[in-house]
Amino acid sequence: MPDVFADLVGQDEAVAELRRAAAAASAVLRAGAADRAPALIAAGPAGDAESAPAGDAAPGGVDPSAGMTHAWIFTGPPGSGRSVAARAFAAALQCVHGTGCGECPGCRTTMGGTHADVRLVVPEGLSIGVSEMRALVLRAASTPSGGRWQVVVIEDADRLTEAAGNALLKAIEEPPPRTVFLLCAPSTHPDDISVTIRSRCRVVPLRQPPAAAVAEVLVRRDGIAPDVAQWAAAAAQGHVGRARRLARDPEARKRREAVLAVPRRLTGVGAAFDAASALIEAAEAEAEASVTEADTAERAALETALGAGGTGRGAAGAIRGAAGQLKELEKRQKSRATRAQRDALDRALVDLAGFYRDSLTMALGAPVAPVHTDTAALAGAGAQKWDAEGALRRLEAVLACRAAIEANVKPRIAVEAMMLALWKG
Ligand SMILES: [Zn+2]
Repeated sequence: MPDVFADLVGQDEAVAELRRAAAAASAVLRAGAADRAPALIAAGPAGDAESAPAGDAAPGGVDPSAGMTHAWIFTGPPGSGRSVAARAFAAALQCVHGTGCGECPGCRTTMGGTHADVRLVVPEGLSIGVSEMRALVLRAASTPSGGRWQVVVIEDADRLTEAAGNALLKAIEEPPPRTVFLLCAPSTHPDDISVTIRSRCRVVPLRQPPAAAVAEVLVRRDGIAPDVAQWAAAAAQGHVGRARRLARDPEARKRREAVLAVPRRLTGVGAAFDAASALIEAAEAEAEASVTEADTAERAALETALGAGGTGRGAAGAIRGAAGQLKELEKRQKSRATRAQRDALDRALVDLAGFYRDSLTMALGAPVAPVHTDTAALAGAGAQKWDAEGALRRLEAVLACRAAIEANVKPRIAVEAMMLALWKG
């Protein structure tokens, strides 16, 4: 039976550190049961494992809390497994054996998302607001019902609003003795995570997993045929979730093929604008498909909870209150739809960047495998026509488009500018 870290692909160093920390956390609990609960060592202003103070270990003894701290940041490129790592570590902290065995109730309920002392924040909109964060911090301060740790996992901590970040910072600065915060962010750059929060956390950097490691996990865990797994792992450029979707979902494969058909369609100005429209509309359609089901279910659940259609006394007041709640739900759903559209568009741009990257490496004669094996011939033709410089300019146009959208340029404008640049070279 594989343990909770088995799905963390190609991250041996991070896994070793997390195993040590889980063992240390377990030792803290044992020491606490035998004596008084020793406090965890807070990460100092420098914040890293190397520079964390060793604590006041008894002479000849080992401080039980060395190796463990109460606030962590998992960083790495999208798809490297930040949230997988955070969840696995949460499970190891709740594991009755302190190892993340994968079999005990603590491990299984955490991995299944039902452990009472593990709270997971997955932002659906563009940001995590302050009210959500305050409520979370408050609940996280309570005594763990399972007797181990209160664990708060915040996925996409880079989407915290400034006010929410401040609320979180307060909790991290004066943490309740049994509360552990696990944040996930693309990097520790100040754009992603505030310097003050970062200074209180230990950082676990994850790398982009190699395609072979991704393919291996698709075969082992998902039962995907080895040749399909290898193709999908390369095409997904190290993004584990994306590789699984490509291997399993014909719709995802169709969307990718449409994106990779863009370069050969750019025959003129009109074609460039058409390609921009097609890309935007495909992203909208993909996003709509992904959120519609959840939207409808949420609205129905809220209407039931509010007793829609009631006619008794007090119904009028209830309806007034209901209007506010429905409005709040609509706002949240709109924010989620916008996020889903941006994510879909970004995936398309990453695929397109992979194509021009292939052209560039071929023009340079670099001895590396192509990202998209199925369009390698087309990328090779581009390499001959454009040379390395032309391929590089096109790759830069795609990356500039991503950056512009991230900086809130209207997606249609950014994509149109990119298509024109790709056509002109
Ligand atoms: Zn366990």
